[in-house]
Amino acid sequence: MIILGVEATAHTFGVGIVTSEGKVLSNVKDSYSSPDKGMIPDEIAKHHKDVAEEILSKALKEAGLTWKNVDLIAYSAGPGLDPALWEGYHKAKGWAEKQGKKLVPVNHCCAHLSIGKIWNKLEDPIYLYVSGVNTQLIFSEAGKYHVMGETLDIGLGNMLDKFGRVLGLGFPAGAKMEEMANFGNYVELPYVVKGMDVSFSGILTRVQQLYERGQTSKEDLCFSIQETCFAMLAEVIERAMAHTGKKELLLVGGVGANKRLCEMLDIMCQERGAKFFKVPLDLAGDQGAMIAWEGFLRKDEEKEMTVNPHWRVDEV
Ligand code: AMP
Ligand code: MG
Repeated sequence: MIILGVEATAHTFGVGIVTSEGKVLSNVKDSYSSPDKGMIPDEIAKHHKDVAEEILSKALKEAGLTWKNVDLIAYSAGPGLDPALWEGYHKAKGWAEKQGKKLVPVNHCCAHLSIGKIWNKLEDPIYLYVSGVNTQLIFSEAGKYHVMGETLDIGLGNMLDKFGRVLGLGFPAGAKMEEMANFGNYVELPYVVKGMDVSFSGILTRVQQLYERGQTSKEDLCFSIQETCFAMLAEVIERAMAHTGKKELLLVGGVGANKRLCEMLDIMCQERGAKFFKVPLDLAGDQGAMIAWEGFLRKDEEKEMTVNPHWRVDEV
């Protein structure tokens, strides 16, 4: 079976094609970026509309397939930005109707988890999902996902991007901040863990204040944000692993590209006799292959839906 997945929850429009064995045949995407602004929802929707047909053609071509070979179309129905989601839905629905294919709505968060699980061939990991909007600690039980801990305000990626804008780094800023952090030293920041949850907005306010006062370098602030926020995450995950007895940790989402975060989680896992896993860069951020794979897993669930911007992983 061949499944085509359409991703359009945030700044990325992607089309990926996978087989029912989880082999990725192609995964083409294009992301909205801006030198001086954050994500402007209407601009993002326009971006997706402009690139969709070209991304689709490239994905089919790269996979060496035509529409005839595709059995199923999956699209990300949420969570995400409303205008982006509708753009993705209309594209996927239009293609499904024109080509006479079944259309499967997919939860974007579940897709991040399931592509990481199949790629690493894992049995039953605990998941750390850190993207732009999401920061969640998730495990699966009896076929359902449960959120054990999460951010009480903004996602870590959004926090990095917001501060990145203040620093004039453009959007998205996480990768540039990681480079700058290599040249920084530690300054103390609020460390905000509440039970199994974390909070980043107070840290954002603090680094903005420090930056405006002009006595702390950009590099020191980037380094200290990383050290503080990643340590907070490592603390709650370690507690979750101790509590659930799980021996595998899987990191997914765009912030998972960060080498220092991976290093800290790997050390934590080694120290407790557990194993740390991540996904390769091309499957870590938003893309269509994960939507296709999740669509295959959910193909027999009948769901009547269009889009749901607030669809949580534990509501699936
Ligand atoms: P996603 O929403 O899963 O596509 O992830 C996008 C987020 O990942 C954005 O907020 C980026 O700033 C962030 N990001 C990407 N690369 C890195 C990195 N190397 N370090 C930290 N954050 C990153
Ligand atoms: Mg994502």
